[in-house]
Amino acid sequence: MDQQRIKRFTFIINSIILALVFGLAGFFWLCNATILLWFSIPTALVYVVGYVLIVKDRLDIYVRLVYFWITLYMCVCTVCLGYKIAFHLYCLSMIPIIFYTEYMADKLGKPRVNAFVASGIIAICYLLSTGYTAYVGPIYDVDNSIAGVFWTTNSVIVIAFLVFYSRLMLSLIGDYENKLKDAALIDQLTGLFNRHYMTDKLEEACKEDGKSFLAMVDIDDFKKINDTYGHNAGDYILENVARIMKDTCKDSSISRWGGEEFLILTPGTIDDNGYDLIERLRAKVADEQFVFDGKQIKVTITSGLADHSSAHSMDQWVSEADDKLYAGKGSGKNKVVR
Ligand code: GH3
Ligand code: MG
Ligand code: MG
Repeated sequence: MDQQRIKRFTFIINSIILALVFGLAGFFWLCNATILLWFSIPTALVYVVGYVLIVKDRLDIYVRLVYFWITLYMCVCTVCLGYKIAFHLYCLSMIPIIFYTEYMADKLGKPRVNAFVASGIIAICYLLSTGYTAYVGPIYDVDNSIAGVFWTTNSVIVIAFLVFYSRLMLSLIGDYENKLKDAALIDQLTGLFNRHYMTDKLEEACKEDGKSFLAMVDIDDFKKINDTYGHNAGDYILENVARIMKDTCKDSSISRWGGEEFLILTPGTIDDNGYDLIERLRAKVADEQFVFDGKQIKVTITSGLADHSSAHSMDQWVSEADDKLYAGKGSGKNKVVR
């Protein structure tokens, strides 16, 4: 979540809590719980101050204030009305939020709340307030049926929150995992697989005895393109050659093997359809109108092919394709060598 979304989200949460404070004040009035009615005034003020803190980007202070006040509020409610109304459960639901806040603050380089200390304080308040009403009894009597409604509602809210929160955390972890996986396996500029991914894929292909072939593809005179049109033009060519490769070799695993060098792994053999496929790719690149900054750039590629053979190690396989590429470069470029 970015900063602006966090702010908006906190604003909504603050409004919900403030509305609850007013709703509960009505309930305290019905119960003649004067202490709690008076206590609702500073509580409401805390959340009004909360708006100011959110607007002024002081979420760090806001979070501490809210943790402190919710804990205090729950304790006062429990002591006044008894543990049967189950307000103390909200203290428990704060613990996972505190740990998440600590994690986020650390990530954003903001001052952190010590989640262990905060959880310890909450646990002590929880034990003291529930322990007090269990042994001494609450200050105000609440009708058993009303207490039952509160006990059920509060329990359901806290359990639902914990389930929803755990699910949300798991999906966040899943998203982060996927992003990390992409970052580790995908080349940022071209969106193709990187060398790391391709090495694993080649090792896999070597272990299996299926038919596949490799094409090592290299852009011709790429240094000249960089020197003549600039590095950005070079990047533009890399991105677009990659796009043409993806469009042409749909069943292949395509990787950026080095700077302007690509490795394409395709099911089948060179004689079946492999040569034709890479020759089609070569022709498409040669025919493409690359225009950068209003200037037309002529681009060609050379490729060396190597069939998979069970006698090959991965290195031998790659180096056979590389040797063929080298032969193509030495005999005029813009060609596919089998
Ligand atoms: P050949 O036809 O023999 O392949 O010649 P070449 O000029 O293509 O090959 P050379 O190895 O001499 O030059 C490759 C150039 O590719 C040099 C390097 O600066 C450039 N290069 C490597 N990675 C990138 C990149 O990510 N972006 C850009 N713009 N250039 C890159
Ligand atoms: Mg080159
Ligand atoms: Mg090269």
